[in-house]
Amino acid sequence: MGNSTTKRAEPRLSDDARWAAVLARDPEFDDAFVYSVATTGVYCRPSCPARRANRVNVEFHASPAEAERAGFRPCKRCKPDQPSLKAEHTAKVAQACRLIEQADEAPGDDEVGTRPVVPVLDRETELDVHG
Ligand SMILES: [Zn+2]
Repeated sequence: MGNSTTKRAEPRLSDDARWAAVLARDPEFDDAFVYSVATTGVYCRPSCPARRANRVNVEFHASPAEAERAGFRPCKRCKPDQPSLKAEHTAKVAQACRLIEQADEAPGDDEVGTRPVVPVLDRETELDVHG
């Protein structure tokens, strides 16, 4: 046990690796880079469902901001300038965890199994008073 090789995203992907991710439409790389297409002037996530561009027209960028600085616009289909599904999911999970932490009084077994004893007693008391 211990320090075996920790699996990590490569800090620097080769263009070939990036292109392979684009060809595979691999959403795992959505947060790793975007690619721009010179002929259309837009940039996309690797997992973009749009028709794949010709490799010779494709350029890679480490981030959407970088692609925009290079003069490209975000693709309307994959919306690379917005958080990826994966990032959104992670954010939602984090938010849910925070909510659970905040909810100190989670409904426990006591609440679920509340017995109808109290109202019955009340009625009996009332009867006693009037009787
Ligand atoms: Zn796209």
